Order: sequence, then C-alpha cells, then structure tokens
Amino acid sequence: MTDAERRAALEAIADEVRVCTRCRLHETRTKAVPGEGDPSTEVVFVGEGPGMNEDREGRPFVGRAGGLLVNLLGHIGWGREDVFITNIVKCRPPGNRDPEPDEIAACAPYLQRQLDALDPSVVVTLGRHSMGRFMPGVRISQAHGTTRVAEPETGARDATVFAMYHPAAALRTPAIERESYEDMALIPAVLTDARARRAEHRRLQAPPTRRGAPTTQPELTTQPEPATQPRSTTRTAEHAAGPTPPDAEPAADQLSLF
Ligand code: URA
Ligand code: SF4
Repeated sequence: MTDAERRAALEAIADEVRVCTRCRLHETRTKAVPGEGDPSTEVVFVGEGPGMNEDREGRPFVGRAGGLLVNLLGHIGWGREDVFITNIVKCRPPGNRDPEPDEIAACAPYLQRQLDALDPSVVVTLGRHSMGRFMPGVRISQAHGTTRVAEPETGARDATVFAMYHPAAALRTPAIERESYEDMALIPAVLTDARARRAEHRRLQAPPTRRGAPTTQPELTTQPEPATQPRSTTRTAEHAAGPTPPDAEPAADQLSLF
C-alpha cells in the first residue's frame, strides 16, 4: 500500500466511526474519536477509550493523560505526530466507566482495520483493556515492559506488541509513572528488533530470484535500520530493496543514545 492509499483507508475508517451507531456508546458521545497520527508510522499506541476532553474534541489523548503520554514520548525524542494514537473503543463510556465487553466487541473491527491499513511494526498497548486484546490472560503488573508477537487476527499482521501502564494510572501513582518512563525507554530497541523480525519474514517470503542467481546475503538483509525514529522516511527505507549502506552506524551504537 502506498502512503496515499494508507491515508485514504484511515480517513474512510474515521468517517465511518464518526457516524457509527453499532453500540450504545453512540447515544452519550459528543464526538467519536477515531484516532490520529502519521499514516506512514511504524508504531501504533492503543489506549482504552476517550475521556471527557477527547469526547469534546474528537481527538485521542488530549487531556491530562494525553499530556503525560506526550511527555513519555518526548523521553525518547518522539512526538505524538510521529506515531498513530487510537483507542479500543472510539466513543466515551459515560462517566469514564470501563467499556463493556459487548462495546469492545462492537468496536473491534475499526481497530482491526486501522491496524490492517497501518501494518505497524510495533503496537504499544496502554492499560489493561488494550493489553487484553493483544496479550490475553496476563496481568499488567507482570506484563508491562514486555513484548509478544501480535496475533494476525488483531489486524496487525506482523507486529510486536509492547505493554505499558495506562498514563492515567501513572498520573495517580508515582511508582507507576516511574515505571512508565522506564518502559517507554525500551521502545526504540523494541522497534529495532521488530524491524529485524519483519525483514527476516520478508526474506523468507520473497520469491526466489532467477535460478542460479546469487541470493542476497542474509546478514545484510536482516540488519536493522539504523534510525530508531518511527518516521515515514524510515518506513520508505525499510521497504527499499538492498542492504543497509556500508557507512551506516551500527544499530547498537544508535541505541546507546537512548
Ligand atoms: N484515555 C484513553 O484511554 N484514551 C484517550 O484517548 C484518552 C484518555
Ligand atoms: Fe461505534 Fe465504537 Fe462508538 Fe460503539 S464505541 S458507537 S462501536 S464507534
């Protein structure tokens, strides 16, 4: 998919979300919150559901929890515009109650389609409800800061899932805020590893070249991209044929910057 096609697919999903009546949450919402960000990003953050400010503005993570999320991203030199940010349910549960299982199920196809369009390398779950969709059966106190390979049924066809606490929990508890910064600091390395895994999958899936032609050297094709920014330029590089340029910095050196 080209960047323009990806942008168009995401806009089409957002248009459907804004008028959706598939579950009771549409009755009490002001605005649905489809999600937003760089359509070419490699990293998607998935929260729980819109709060009061998000419901008013129709944008994700614009209240206090959003402020902390932006600070957490800033800790690794990223901004919210570098990633894609969305939620498990796209409409605010009244009084910020937890979303009900039937509401989560009704809304799931939108997230699935967003992930299908974005094809991210990394999905970061924020909080228990989001984690439950990608890492069922684990406890957040144990699973935060850890990864698992995404099930393709989630819509993320070749992604690494990374669990974090919800920023609202971090706002309530200083120890969780501290752990959230520590977890965020792991994400550049998680992205580098996820890229390497995807590159290896592409190599294994690539049709053989002409019979007798020398195959590409595996140690070059599995080399992670040097930059750890989840930007569109990086994505282009990721998709470009050919090995990492010989003068590129080794990935390990880059990671020591974080
Ligand atoms: N909390 C969430 O889970 N999502 C938002 O968009 C805002 C706050
Ligand atoms: Fe539709 Fe999801 Fe909003 Fe329910 S929460 S009305 S399924 S967009």
